[in-house]
Amino acid sequence: MIIKFFLVFAIAINTLWLINPAAVASTNVQWRYGGTENPTQWGKLSEDFAMCELGKSQSPINISNAIAGKPENIDFDYQPSPLVVINNGHTIQVKYEKGSKVTIDGKKYELLQFHFHTPSEHYINGQASPMELHLVHQNALGQLAVVGVMIKQGTLNPLISEVWKHIPNVGETSEVADRLINAADLLPEQKSYFSYDGSLTTPPCSEGVSWNIFVEPIAISKEQIEAFEQIYQVDARPVQATNNRVVELHR
Ligand SMILES: [Zn+2]
Repeated sequence: MIIKFFLVFAIAINTLWLINPAAVASTNVQWRYGGTENPTQWGKLSEDFAMCELGKSQSPINISNAIAGKPENIDFDYQPSPLVVINNGHTIQVKYEKGSKVTIDGKKYELLQFHFHTPSEHYINGQASPMELHLVHQNALGQLAVVGVMIKQGTLNPLISEVWKHIPNVGETSEVADRLINAADLLPEQKSYFSYDGSLTTPPCSEGVSWNIFVEPIAISKEQIEAFEQIYQVDARPVQATNNRVVELHR
């Protein structure tokens, strides 16, 4: 009976996972970027987080020695979405309405949300950036594809201003229904990108995530970077072992 219940529970969790990857991560076990629950301890905090320690295809990584892959084939069909900003205690996340898609090498994924890390989680040739944007997508099979955009210091970005203006308190969501945003405004002009197979960079560190990281960064202002750091000084997992994984460069 207990086993049966557990199975049903496991299936329920699994289904949740397919609908919303964040649902798994939010199952009550605390994890942080510092202190006793820092990234080196994540795998020990819960059985559900075992991959954080045991996984061999973890993210982020230092991107170097990329080999030439197929020509760049990434296509964005992003639509405007009402602004919904979530402060989940780990990052600032913008939830996206259904109907925005990216097609990567012929595979179509839907945009679920985007969020930010400081400093960047990925390194490119040993170099970190002040921040990194992750656009999280999922296909009909539940597979995840993340598009990563390095953020450097430069001129003010109007969309970032709009998002920062509506950051709620931790654990809260601010819905700005009368304000439409378009995540396409956060993409660089040049579409060359690196790709590799990795994982979620937060617990449960699940693998099978398709990573696609633009070579060209976008810019936001110094003040905008500092405003984020006021809320999250560090929310980046350190780089993980590459373990012979191949990084391809598509240009
Ligand atoms: Zn992320």
